[in-house]
Amino acid sequence: MKRAEKRVQAVSSHLSPPAQLRQPSVTMSEKEAALTAAPSDSPTIFDKIINKEIPSTVVYEDDKVLAFRDIAPQAPTHILVIPKVRDGLTGLSKAEERHCEILGRLLYTAKLVAKQEGLDDGFRIVINDGPNGCQSVYHIHVHVIGGRQMNWPPG
Ligand code: 5GP
Repeated sequence: MKRAEKRVQAVSSHLSPPAQLRQPSVTMSEKEAALTAAPSDSPTIFDKIINKEIPSTVVYEDDKVLAFRDIAPQAPTHILVIPKVRDGLTGLSKAEERHCEILGRLLYTAKLVAKQEGLDDGFRIVINDGPNGCQSVYHIHVHVIGGRQMNWPPG
């Protein structure tokens, strides 16, 4: 058995079966928002943020992407990184090969933002997709979450 495999086995053997099997709790508002949201070509709240029609706290911006603080932070640092042009990318499940460049740019921006925020001890990247993934805004976005110890498995 390889070293990494042994480590995974050692970590999982410390989890009790209920912890491994448990359905994580999701608040109704998150779940409801996800279940009522649906992909569409209509502008989303994020388009209004890009166009500065509604205010946000921008932490990074260039010609391709925008990063701003989440209105309902789940950790001391919670930033959303979005493409300025959605180009059909309502969510990751809609990605096509032509989106590789912007997908890479989103992740690289997430790293820049994490560094800028001083998340030197680590951080979490989340991309929710679809109702089961609890996605509520259908304009692809990368959550950068940090400033506290994360749990695993995720909720
Ligand atoms: P999702 O659930 O789709 O992965 O994430 C959407 C995120 O957008 C949520 O974390 C939610 O708090 C955030 N959000 C929704 N509306 C606004 C808004 O008007 N401004 C900001 N800054 N964040 C928002």
